[in-house]
Amino acid sequence: MGFFAAITKCGTMTDEERAAWRADYERREAESREKQRIEREALLARCPTYVLKDGTKARGRYMFGRLSNGNESDKGTRIHVVGMEDRWSCGGGGKAACGAAPGKRSVGWSDVQEDPANCPRCLAKIAS
Ligand SMILES: [Zn+2]
Repeated sequence: MGFFAAITKCGTMTDEERAAWRADYERREAESREKQRIEREALLARCPTYVLKDGTKARGRYMFGRLSNGNESDKGTRIHVVGMEDRWSCGGGGKAACGAAPGKRSVGWSDVQEDPANCPRCLAKIAS
């Protein structure tokens, strides 16, 4: 059905049809949100959790590389331990356990990583 046909059909829908269409739409929306939530939880379950000295939960994240050339040169090379909520990503902000923080030339931390953190300075900070 083309766009105009859809509009026309919408205009000729009865209230019941419209309600059914809306209910169906909302059900699918809720299903996809639920699916995303489950996938997110599964990812978080696979990612190692670290505990900082102050008791804060932390995750492995790498720092995005330079924006200027679009080259994420640090990607996958050094995973820091970053104590922040399990948000998708954090555009900037936040410090790793070793003190590393996204600077002017980074867009911030990646999403949580499944691979174990390998920044020796971060690991030293949480080990003792
Ligand atoms: Zn580090």
